[in-house]
Amino acid sequence: MLMKNKILVTGGTGYIGSHTVVELQNAGFDVLIVDNLSNSSPDVINGIEKITGKKPELIVADCADITKMDEIFSTQPAIVAIIHFAASKAVGESVEKPLLYYRNNLLSLVNMLELSLKYGIHNFVFSSSCTVYGQPEILPVTESSPIQEATSPYGNTKQIAEEIIRDTVRANSSLKAICLRYFNPIGAHPSALIGELPNGVPNNLVPFITQTAIGLRECLSIFGNDYNTPDGSCIRDYINVVDLAKAHVVAVKRMLDNKNKQMLEFFNIGTGKGLSVLELVHVFEETTGVKPRYKIVGRRAGDIEQIWANASYANNELGWRAEEAITDTLLSAWKWEQALASKK
Ligand code: UDP
Repeated sequence: MLMKNKILVTGGTGYIGSHTVVELQNAGFDVLIVDNLSNSSPDVINGIEKITGKKPELIVADCADITKMDEIFSTQPAIVAIIHFAASKAVGESVEKPLLYYRNNLLSLVNMLELSLKYGIHNFVFSSSCTVYGQPEILPVTESSPIQEATSPYGNTKQIAEEIIRDTVRANSSLKAICLRYFNPIGAHPSALIGELPNGVPNNLVPFITQTAIGLRECLSIFGNDYNTPDGSCIRDYINVVDLAKAHVVAVKRMLDNKNKQMLEFFNIGTGKGLSVLELVHVFEETTGVKPRYKIVGRRAGDIEQIWANASYANNELGWRAEEAITDTLLSAWKWEQALASKK
């Protein structure tokens, strides 16, 4: 009899995807990655194999291509759940090329949902984001805080995606879905065999810090010190990427363990603690002993002033919590940057 134990991970060679594949394999699942490699490298598979002792299956394909995806599903009877990461994620690019973002992020999602229904795969985990909350009035933010108008097409794709999932589950009671609203994922696997691979100049704070610390960038720009926060810089909830990856395994198991229950759930995946940009830079300096040059510059357009999670619902309902200390997380990011440098 066919042992049905395979998880389809779209975007599985990406930053969060690759760490999730590791945790899924460590938990005993088989993994099929579908990725178009538009923002990742197939070498990631080797890192995953070194960590877990097992090479995940990889099919290079685009989730927006329904014909190709249908072909893949028709030859993969063991899939029991889908974790859908595959999406474009650069906020600035989405402002310049909105249609690219709507086409890529939303068409891919619709295709994946259609195929899960067609092939009777009842369990769907979606990569959502705290961006759906905009600037919340009350902090920390809970899952019932109002969804605010998106500040970028990228953010809008996450909001619309949640609505598409909601409507699809309402119309198909056999389909379960869990949307994980990520806060700011940072760090790398402690082995330094996989991590974040920014394409060109990093948009995100931590890769910019580590690249400056190693000498690839001259100076870190801190975007604004005149916000209404204790030190004037923005506040975020920085979550270790391995902790975040583990939340996906918990979500998949929850769906598989509750076969007869309807499920449409949204969870904040954060630490519950806010840290300012300046605080984060100082923790990096203290833990690594390396001081990246930085200067204060003007605010970045579209930035939220402050947000951090109330993660109690995920803690209590999922039995998941962020465990890694910020110091270890920043050290893992630094180790990864050093590992990349030693390969050059
Ligand atoms: N940031 C910064 N300099 C950089 C990149 C980011 O000061 O080079 C700040 C940014 O303004 C925000 C925080 O760091 O307050 C986190 O930004 P990131 O792009 O990593 O994530 P976001 O929260 O915007 O998704």
